[in-house]
Amino acid sequence: MFDNLQDKLDRAFKVLKGQGSITEINVAETMKEIRKALLDADVNYKTAKAFTDEVRQKALGQNVLTAVSPGQLLTKIMNDELAALMGGEVTELETKANPTIILIAGLNGAGKTTFAGKLALHLKGKGKKPLLVAGDMYRPAAVDQLEVLGTSVGVSVYANRDSKDPVGIALEGIAHGKQNGNNVIIIDTAGRLAIDESLMNEISEVKAKTQPHEILFVVDSMTGQDAVNTAKVFNDRLDFTGVVLTKLDGDTRGGAALSIKSVVNKPIKFIGTGEKMEALDVFYPDRMASRILG
Ligand code: GDP
Repeated sequence: MFDNLQDKLDRAFKVLKGQGSITEINVAETMKEIRKALLDADVNYKTAKAFTDEVRQKALGQNVLTAVSPGQLLTKIMNDELAALMGGEVTELETKANPTIILIAGLNGAGKTTFAGKLALHLKGKGKKPLLVAGDMYRPAAVDQLEVLGTSVGVSVYANRDSKDPVGIALEGIAHGKQNGNNVIIIDTAGRLAIDESLMNEISEVKAKTQPHEILFVVDSMTGQDAVNTAKVFNDRLDFTGVVLTKLDGDTRGGAALSIKSVVNKPIKFIGTGEKMEALDVFYPDRMASRILG
Protein backbone atom coordinates (compact mmCIF):
# COMPACT_ATOMS: atom_id res chain seq x y z
CA MET A 1 0.00 0.00 0.00
CA PHE A 2 2.73 2.48 0.97
CA ASP A 3 4.73 1.36 -2.05
CA ASN A 4 1.75 2.18 -4.16
CA LEU A 5 1.42 5.68 -2.73
CA GLN A 6 5.16 6.23 -2.99
CA ASP A 7 5.15 5.11 -6.63
CA LYS A 8 2.50 7.65 -7.40
CA LEU A 9 4.27 10.42 -5.53
CA ASP A 10 7.50 9.56 -7.30
CA ARG A 11 5.68 9.80 -10.57
CA ALA A 12 4.15 13.10 -9.52
CA PHE A 13 7.54 14.48 -8.54
CA LYS A 14 9.01 13.60 -11.89
CA VAL A 15 7.00 16.46 -13.26
CA LEU A 16 8.90 18.82 -11.00
CA LYS A 17 12.39 17.42 -11.36
CA GLY A 18 14.84 19.66 -13.14
CA GLN A 19 12.68 22.75 -12.77
CA GLY A 20 14.02 25.66 -10.75
CA SER A 21 10.87 27.04 -9.26
CA ILE A 22 7.46 25.96 -8.09
CA THR A 23 4.86 27.48 -10.33
CA GLU A 24 1.08 27.37 -10.54
CA ILE A 25 1.22 24.99 -13.51
CA ASN A 26 3.53 22.31 -12.13
CA VAL A 27 1.91 22.45 -8.70
CA ALA A 28 -1.58 22.00 -10.07
CA GLU A 29 -0.53 18.86 -11.94
CA THR A 30 1.34 17.46 -8.98
CA MET A 31 -1.44 18.17 -6.50
CA LYS A 32 -3.88 16.32 -8.72
CA GLU A 33 -1.60 13.29 -8.66
CA ILE A 34 -1.09 13.52 -4.92
CA ARG A 35 -4.81 13.88 -4.28
CA LYS A 36 -5.45 10.79 -6.37
CA ALA A 37 -2.75 8.90 -4.48
CA LEU A 38 -4.27 9.91 -1.12
CA LEU A 39 -7.76 8.87 -2.23
CA ASP A 40 -6.36 5.51 -3.35
CA ALA A 41 -4.75 5.22 0.08
CA ASP A 42 -8.25 5.49 1.56
CA VAL A 43 -7.94 9.03 2.82
CA ASN A 44 -11.39 10.59 2.64
CA TYR A 45 -12.01 13.22 -0.01
CA LYS A 46 -12.39 16.20 2.34
CA THR A 47 -9.10 15.47 4.09
CA ALA A 48 -7.24 14.87 0.84
CA LYS A 49 -8.57 18.10 -0.65
CA ALA A 50 -7.80 20.19 2.46
CA PHE A 51 -4.33 18.69 2.52
CA THR A 52 -3.48 19.38 -1.11
CA ASP A 53 -4.96 22.89 -0.93
CA GLU A 54 -2.77 23.68 2.05
CA VAL A 55 0.37 22.20 0.47
CA ARG A 56 -0.35 24.07 -2.73
CA GLN A 57 -0.63 27.39 -0.86
CA LYS A 58 2.64 26.77 0.94
CA ALA A 59 4.47 25.55 -2.17
CA LEU A 60 3.52 28.39 -4.48
CA GLY A 61 5.85 31.32 -4.55
CA GLN A 62 8.60 29.40 -2.74
CA ASN A 63 11.99 30.18 -4.19
CA VAL A 64 13.83 26.98 -4.67
CA LEU A 65 17.47 27.15 -3.64
CA THR A 66 19.79 25.68 -6.23
CA ALA A 67 20.77 22.92 -3.79
CA VAL A 68 17.18 21.84 -3.22
CA SER A 69 14.99 20.43 -5.95
CA PRO A 70 11.33 21.42 -6.11
CA GLY A 71 10.54 17.77 -5.38
CA GLN A 72 12.55 17.81 -2.17
CA LEU A 73 11.04 21.10 -1.10
CA LEU A 74 7.55 19.80 -1.77
CA THR A 75 8.30 16.59 0.16
CA LYS A 76 9.34 18.67 3.16
CA ILE A 77 6.20 20.82 2.94
CA MET A 78 4.04 17.69 2.61
CA ASN A 79 5.78 16.00 5.51
CA ASP A 80 5.20 19.00 7.79
CA GLU A 81 1.62 19.35 6.62
CA LEU A 82 0.83 15.64 7.08
CA ALA A 83 2.31 15.71 10.58
CA ALA A 84 0.23 18.80 11.40
CA LEU A 85 -2.93 17.09 10.11
CA MET A 86 -2.25 14.17 12.43
CA GLY A 87 -1.91 16.44 15.45
CA GLY A 88 1.60 17.85 15.13
CA GLU A 89 2.84 16.93 18.58
CA VAL A 90 2.83 13.78 20.70
CA THR A 91 -0.26 13.77 22.95
CA GLU A 92 0.50 12.28 26.34
CA LEU A 93 -1.88 10.08 28.24
CA GLU A 94 -3.50 11.80 31.23
CA THR A 95 -2.40 9.83 34.31
CA LYS A 96 -2.20 12.43 37.09
CA ALA A 97 -5.41 11.44 38.90
CA ASN A 98 -5.10 8.71 41.53
CA PRO A 99 -6.52 6.38 40.53
CA THR A 100 -6.63 7.27 36.84
CA ILE A 101 -9.50 5.46 35.16
CA ILE A 102 -9.02 4.46 31.53
CA LEU A 103 -11.84 2.98 29.47
CA ILE A 104 -10.96 0.95 26.38
CA ALA A 105 -13.64 0.92 23.67
CA GLY A 106 -14.00 -0.38 20.13
CA LEU A 107 -15.43 -3.12 17.94
CA ASN A 108 -14.63 -6.82 18.37
CA GLY A 109 -11.31 -7.81 16.88
CA ALA A 110 -9.97 -4.25 16.86
CA GLY A 111 -7.36 -5.24 19.43
CA LYS A 112 -8.86 -3.86 22.66
CA THR A 113 -7.87 -6.69 24.98
CA THR A 114 -4.39 -6.89 23.48
CA PHE A 115 -4.00 -3.13 23.83
CA ALA A 116 -5.20 -3.23 27.45
CA GLY A 117 -2.34 -5.64 28.24
CA LYS A 118 0.16 -3.55 26.30
CA LEU A 119 -0.94 -0.36 28.03
CA ALA A 120 -0.63 -2.01 31.45
CA LEU A 121 2.94 -3.03 30.62
CA HIS A 122 3.72 0.46 29.24
CA LEU A 123 2.41 2.16 32.39
CA LYS A 124 4.14 -0.33 34.66
CA GLY A 125 7.37 0.63 32.93
CA LYS A 126 6.64 4.22 33.90
CA GLY A 127 6.42 3.26 37.56
CA LYS A 128 2.62 2.99 37.76
CA LYS A 129 0.69 0.23 39.49
CA PRO A 130 -2.09 -0.63 37.04
CA LEU A 131 -5.06 -2.95 37.44
CA LEU A 132 -6.77 -4.56 34.45
CA VAL A 133 -10.54 -4.99 34.68
CA ALA A 134 -12.12 -7.69 32.49
CA GLY A 135 -15.27 -5.91 31.37
CA ASP A 136 -15.81 -7.88 28.15
CA MET A 137 -18.15 -10.37 29.79
CA TYR A 138 -19.98 -11.40 26.60
CA ARG A 139 -16.93 -13.20 25.35
CA PRO A 140 -15.75 -15.61 28.11
CA ALA A 141 -12.53 -16.11 26.13
CA ALA A 142 -11.82 -12.38 26.52
CA VAL A 143 -11.67 -12.77 30.32
CA ASP A 144 -9.25 -15.70 29.98
CA GLN A 145 -7.25 -13.76 27.40
CA LEU A 146 -6.92 -10.74 29.71
CA GLU A 147 -5.88 -12.98 32.60
CA VAL A 148 -3.18 -14.60 30.48
CA LEU A 149 -1.96 -11.19 29.30
CA GLY A 150 -2.05 -9.80 32.86
CA THR A 151 0.07 -12.71 34.09
CA SER A 152 2.52 -12.29 31.22
CA VAL A 153 3.07 -8.60 31.98
CA GLY A 154 2.91 -9.02 35.77
CA VAL A 155 -0.23 -6.92 36.29
CA SER A 156 -3.26 -8.01 38.36
CA VAL A 157 -6.59 -8.59 36.67
CA TYR A 158 -10.02 -8.13 38.23
CA ALA A 159 -12.67 -10.46 36.79
CA ASN A 160 -16.13 -11.60 37.85
CA ARG A 161 -17.31 -14.51 35.73
CA ASP A 162 -20.70 -14.65 37.47
CA SER A 163 -21.72 -11.18 36.40
CA LYS A 164 -23.21 -10.12 33.07
CA ASP A 165 -23.47 -6.48 34.09
CA PRO A 166 -20.80 -4.29 32.42
CA VAL A 167 -21.43 -1.28 34.67
CA GLY A 168 -21.34 -3.48 37.78
CA ILE A 169 -18.05 -5.11 36.79
CA ALA A 170 -16.45 -1.76 36.02
CA LEU A 171 -17.50 -0.34 39.40
CA GLU A 172 -16.38 -3.49 41.26
CA GLY A 173 -13.05 -3.29 39.46
CA ILE A 174 -12.56 0.34 40.46
CA ALA A 175 -13.42 -0.43 44.10
CA HIS A 176 -11.03 -3.38 44.02
CA GLY A 177 -8.26 -1.23 42.55
CA LYS A 178 -8.73 1.50 45.15
CA GLN A 179 -8.52 -1.08 47.92
CA ASN A 180 -5.34 -2.52 46.48
CA GLY A 181 -3.56 0.78 45.91
CA ASN A 182 -3.68 0.65 42.11
CA ASN A 183 -3.11 4.12 40.68
CA VAL A 184 -4.30 3.29 37.16
CA ILE A 185 -7.40 1.21 36.42
CA ILE A 186 -7.72 0.01 32.84
CA ILE A 187 -11.21 -1.24 31.98
CA ASP A 188 -11.56 -3.50 28.93
CA THR A 189 -15.11 -3.35 27.56
CA ALA A 190 -17.25 -5.58 25.39
CA GLY A 191 -17.37 -4.80 21.68
CA ARG A 192 -19.65 -6.04 18.93
CA LEU A 193 -19.00 -7.22 15.42
CA ALA A 194 -20.52 -4.00 14.14
CA ILE A 195 -21.85 -0.80 15.63
CA ASP A 196 -25.26 -1.28 17.21
CA GLU A 197 -27.49 0.64 19.52
CA SER A 198 -27.17 -1.73 22.48
CA LEU A 199 -23.37 -1.46 22.38
CA MET A 200 -23.52 2.31 22.30
CA ASN A 201 -26.02 2.46 25.15
CA GLU A 202 -24.00 0.05 27.22
CA ILE A 203 -20.66 1.79 26.80
CA SER A 204 -22.26 5.21 27.34
CA GLU A 205 -23.63 3.95 30.63
CA VAL A 206 -20.25 2.56 31.69
CA LYS A 207 -18.80 5.97 30.90
CA ALA A 208 -21.48 7.82 32.86
CA LYS A 209 -21.06 5.64 35.94
CA THR A 210 -17.26 5.36 35.99
CA GLN A 211 -16.34 8.92 34.92
CA PRO A 212 -13.11 7.86 33.22
CA HIS A 213 -10.19 10.27 32.78
CA GLU A 214 -9.33 8.72 29.44
CA ILE A 215 -11.52 6.89 26.94
CA LEU A 216 -9.33 5.28 24.32
CA PHE A 217 -10.99 4.19 21.12
CA VAL A 218 -9.18 1.20 19.63
CA VAL A 219 -9.45 0.69 15.89
CA ASP A 220 -7.90 -1.69 13.37
CA SER A 221 -5.90 0.39 10.90
CA MET A 222 -6.37 -2.31 8.27
CA THR A 223 -10.06 -1.44 7.97
CA GLY A 224 -9.35 1.80 6.09
CA GLN A 225 -12.33 4.05 5.56
CA ASP A 226 -14.46 1.91 7.89
CA ALA A 227 -12.06 2.83 10.68
CA VAL A 228 -12.87 6.49 10.10
CA ASN A 229 -16.63 5.89 10.06
CA THR A 230 -16.50 3.77 13.22
CA ALA A 231 -14.38 6.42 14.93
CA LYS A 232 -16.98 9.04 14.07
CA VAL A 233 -19.88 7.03 15.51
CA PHE A 234 -18.00 6.18 18.71
CA ASN A 235 -16.86 9.76 19.14
CA ASP A 236 -20.36 11.18 18.62
CA ARG A 237 -21.62 8.96 21.44
CA LEU A 238 -18.63 8.78 23.76
CA ASP A 239 -16.62 11.94 23.14
CA PHE A 240 -13.48 9.83 23.59
CA THR A 241 -10.11 11.33 24.53
CA GLY A 242 -7.82 9.49 22.16
CA VAL A 243 -7.40 6.90 19.42
CA VAL A 244 -5.31 3.74 19.36
CA LEU A 245 -4.51 2.51 15.85
CA THR A 246 -3.68 -1.19 15.87
CA LYS A 247 -2.07 -3.56 13.38
CA LEU A 248 0.20 -1.00 11.80
CA ASP A 249 2.71 -3.82 11.38
CA GLY A 250 0.47 -5.28 8.67
CA ASP A 251 -0.16 -4.18 5.14
CA THR A 252 -2.07 -1.23 6.47
CA ARG A 253 -3.91 1.57 4.79
CA GLY A 254 -2.25 4.87 5.60
CA GLY A 255 -5.55 6.66 5.16
CA ALA A 256 -6.88 5.81 8.62
CA ALA A 257 -4.10 7.61 10.47
CA LEU A 258 -4.48 10.63 8.26
CA SER A 259 -8.25 10.94 8.24
CA ILE A 260 -9.29 10.01 11.78
CA LYS A 261 -7.66 13.00 13.44
CA SER A 262 -9.22 15.45 11.01
CA VAL A 263 -12.67 13.80 11.07
CA VAL A 264 -13.08 13.38 14.85
CA ASN A 265 -10.52 15.98 15.95
CA LYS A 266 -9.10 13.71 18.62
CA PRO A 267 -5.44 12.80 18.95
CA ILE A 268 -4.03 9.40 18.04
CA LYS A 269 -2.18 8.42 21.23
CA PHE A 270 -0.75 4.97 20.56
CA ILE A 271 -0.09 2.58 17.71
CA GLY A 272 -0.05 -1.21 17.89
CA THR A 273 2.73 -2.78 15.85
CA GLY A 274 2.37 -6.49 16.59
CA GLU A 275 0.75 -9.15 18.74
CA LYS A 276 3.41 -9.14 21.45
CA MET A 277 2.92 -7.09 24.60
CA GLU A 278 5.96 -4.93 23.78
CA ALA A 279 4.56 -4.03 20.36
CA LEU A 280 3.15 -0.66 21.38
CA ASP A 281 4.43 2.77 20.42
CA VAL A 282 3.48 6.28 21.36
CA PHE A 283 2.12 7.96 18.24
CA TYR A 284 4.57 10.40 16.66
CA PRO A 285 2.84 12.42 13.91
CA ASP A 286 6.10 13.30 12.15
CA ARG A 287 7.23 9.66 12.03
CA MET A 288 3.88 8.59 10.63
CA ALA A 289 4.08 11.36 8.02
CA SER A 290 7.49 10.12 6.85
CA ARG A 291 6.16 6.58 6.77
CA ILE A 292 3.17 7.51 4.63
CA LEU A 293 5.39 9.45 2.23
CA GLY A 294 7.87 6.56 2.11
P1 GDP B 1 -10.64 -7.30 20.81
O1 GDP B 1 -11.77 -8.18 20.34
O2 GDP B 1 -10.84 -5.87 20.38
O3 GDP B 1 -10.37 -7.41 22.27
O4 GDP B 1 -9.34 -7.77 20.01
P2 GDP B 1 -8.10 -8.66 20.48
O5 GDP B 1 -7.25 -7.90 21.45
O6 GDP B 1 -8.58 -10.01 20.91
O7 GDP B 1 -7.27 -8.74 19.12
C1 GDP B 1 -7.78 -9.39 17.97
C2 GDP B 1 -6.61 -10.03 17.23
O8 GDP B 1 -5.75 -9.02 16.72
C3 GDP B 1 -5.73 -10.91 18.09
O9 GDP B 1 -5.35 -12.04 17.33
C4 GDP B 1 -4.52 -10.04 18.41
O10 GDP B 1 -3.36 -10.80 18.64
C5 GDP B 1 -4.42 -9.24 17.14
N1 GDP B 1 -3.77 -7.92 17.36
C6 GDP B 1 -4.07 -6.96 18.24
N2 GDP B 1 -3.28 -5.89 18.09
C7 GDP B 1 -2.43 -6.16 17.07
C8 GDP B 1 -1.36 -5.45 16.40
O11 GDP B 1 -1.01 -4.29 16.71
N3 GDP B 1 -0.74 -6.09 15.37
C9 GDP B 1 -1.09 -7.37 14.98
N4 GDP B 1 -0.43 -7.91 13.97
N5 GDP B 1 -2.09 -8.06 15.56
C10 GDP B 1 -2.75 -7.47 16.59
